Amino acid sequence: MSAASQARLTVDLDALSHNHAALVAEAAGAEVAPVVKADGYGLGSGPIAQRLWARGARSFFVARLSEGEALRNALGAQRQAAIYVLDGMTPGSGARLADAGLTPVISTLSQLKDAAEFNRPLAIQVDTGMNRQGLPFEDALALDSSALDAHLVMSHLGGAADPDDTHNSRQLQRFCAVRARFPQARASLAASAGIFLGPDYRFDLVRPGISLYGGGPREIPDPRLRAVATFTAPVLYLRQIAAGERIGYGSAVTADSPTRIAIVGAGYADGFLRLGRAGGVAFVAGALRRILIINMDLLAVDIGDADVQVGQQVELLGDRAQLDNFAAAAQTVAHEVLVRISSRAERFYLGEG
Ligand SMILES: *Cc1c(COP(=O)(O)O)cnc(C)c1O
Repeated sequence: MSAASQARLTVDLDALSHNHAALVAEAAGAEVAPVVKADGYGLGSGPIAQRLWARGARSFFVARLSEGEALRNALGAQRQAAIYVLDGMTPGSGARLADAGLTPVISTLSQLKDAAEFNRPLAIQVDTGMNRQGLPFEDALALDSSALDAHLVMSHLGGAADPDDTHNSRQLQRFCAVRARFPQARASLAASAGIFLGPDYRFDLVRPGISLYGGGPREIPDPRLRAVATFTAPVLYLRQIAAGERIGYGSAVTADSPTRIAIVGAGYADGFLRLGRAGGVAFVAGALRRILIINMDLLAVDIGDADVQVGQQVELLGDRAQLDNFAAAAQTVAHEVLVRISSRAERFYLGEG
């Protein structure tokens, strides 16, 4: 098949700049430090970070050491960004961290011991209630901070997508207690959602990921943000289905009346989540239309009586088929929808160079 029959992921770097500016405005003076882990949420950490550097970003976060090394390479010697590695230190990783000029985010007392030989500035993550990553709150309060060269102290919120979740203020209180123990360090609590919880949550530095890429901070589309990822695929076949006919595997999808469908060249092998068939929509021929099935290589869209041609592009994610809505249909979050888009989908960048 020609390349044109393939699903495409188009990354719009101008939309990324727009979202960055929206977050800078919302952060109201706090440094905006982009999170580009998992290859920039699957969109390409190199081009993403280069664009954000050009927009003034000087600190970045990744999860893995190898992601930090790749990012340092992509930024090159002339862009001296601070790169924080959320995994912190693992035994023997000190030399690699130092070689690539990466800052480990320390998360356990044993990492703190390893860091003593590291002899470089550190960041410290404290667990204020997610019970996932970070020094236990009590351990952090007991630390002799004067003996540590910690230039950033941070924590992460578990319920920030819901501003009414009282867990947010509990985590905030604990974070303030920790922060008071590290008067020399800058402080960071908010990811995308936290930035929108108001000034109390912003501190010195904020760490947005998903909202840079267009995902709303409350897990619903946010008109202040633009879609950075546009995922499209062409119509391969058109079918007229009689009432009572089944579509795809099993009997779950049976036409209850005569139905016209377009078969589109994208599926879960391109990373387009199979569960999204229940409630997911695609934009084609000027309207959002119901997705009926998502198989490995093909999906079906109910096109009603619209004028649709073979070869026409269908938007599966983008400005119209919105990321947060598809995530909700697929019973997941926008983060997973983006990082799942597979290497089979061809990548294109808008606004590069
Ligand atoms: C992934 C992550 C972020 C970014 O979260 P978003 O919801 O994508 O904004 C920020 N901080 C930490 C510690 C993370 O793990």
